[in-house]
Amino acid sequence: MECNLAVIKGDGIGPEVVTEAIKVLDAVGKKYDHSFQYEQILMGGCSIDATGVPLTDEAVAIAKSKDAVLLGSIGGNTSTSPWYQLPPELRPEAGLLKIRKELGLFANLRPANLYEELKEACPLKAEIADKGFDMLIMRELTGGLYFGERSTMEIDGVLTAHDNLIYNENEIRRIAVKAFDIAGKRRKKVTSVDKANVLDSSRLWRKVVEEVAKDYPEISYEHMLVDNCAMQLVKDPAQFDVVLTENMFGDILSDEASMITGSIGMLASASLNETKFGMYEPSGGSAPDIAGQNKANPIATILSAAMMLRYTFDLDKEADGIEAAVKQVLKEGYRTCDIVSEGTKQVSCSEMGDLIAARI
Ligand code: NAD
Repeated sequence: MECNLAVIKGDGIGPEVVTEAIKVLDAVGKKYDHSFQYEQILMGGCSIDATGVPLTDEAVAIAKSKDAVLLGSIGGNTSTSPWYQLPPELRPEAGLLKIRKELGLFANLRPANLYEELKEACPLKAEIADKGFDMLIMRELTGGLYFGERSTMEIDGVLTAHDNLIYNENEIRRIAVKAFDIAGKRRKKVTSVDKANVLDSSRLWRKVVEEVAKDYPEISYEHMLVDNCAMQLVKDPAQFDVVLTENMFGDILSDEASMITGSIGMLASASLNETKFGMYEPSGGSAPDIAGQNKANPIATILSAAMMLRYTFDLDKEADGIEAAVKQVLKEGYRTCDIVSEGTKQVSCSEMGDLIAARI
């Protein structure tokens, strides 16, 4: 298969971790006879330095012409970098918002799983961590409270603010369909999270999810209230497979789910639109504190590339191959500085990439 990718290395550790993900993709290409073609585009601080804006229309056009985007990370030190003296619409993060909008990326997928070898990093009690967990938080990304009309005004001399939480049934249906489709590639369970005991938008969410579920008799599903879900994530995370939820609940729950894995450098993510197109990136940021030192953990980006193979190209066997290689390297005791512990061997970012590529 020929896979055409736009590559955004970005800022900070972005170029270092993307280089390692490409190394691993090339190893996959060689083993399974696929050709990965990469075209680099600029976004974030590096684009501001080169063009004056965080993302040019030409870069967007290139991204749109590809099958998928592989992204490192963007942004710098928000206290010291001159990029943050610019007006908000010209700062690095504006590039990210623009590309998400231009590409119509409405479904954000964040896996949170606990590797046997990294169990000590899990902040949960040993009896919970021992059971392990492997879930995927699927968050609606373009609707809800963050995109509704909002205002602050004075009413009878009292400052008053409001934010609107709006969803229509089509927005709910398209992400529910994605969630059930993806559950079919996993353990075939969807937990839809809402606040249907209070919110109308949640009652509509629940109704539409039930309609969609009828088309997927092989997938089991349940509804869960968001407050209960926040508790269950720390009490019994093993129960979850795909967690489907709206924008703000997903924002909070996906960070909670990341936290219980204990290692940001391991967490992949994907944002998808209605087609097979997706943008794949590590969950962490540009880590300016360790940038340029060949210390970053490239595994989150390498696992994001695995998600790309699975969800954009339907290359499940190849994605399994990357995930197995990562597990193997961890089992052999290799660690980057963020996950190193007594008795393990510390390696650099590029060494970690080499080790994983060699095990494909
Ligand atoms: P961060 O995720 O960059 O760093 C938080 C901590 O985690 C740091 O100590 C860092 O060294 C560590 N860390 C993160 N990724 C790591 C990796 N792969 N390997 C080893 N250690 C890693 O968060 P921050 O410091 O709050 O943000 C720094 C910059 O990143 C800011 O400009 C922020 O806006 C940007 N950011 C970008 C994205 C994105 O590109 N999607 C996401 C989040 C933050």
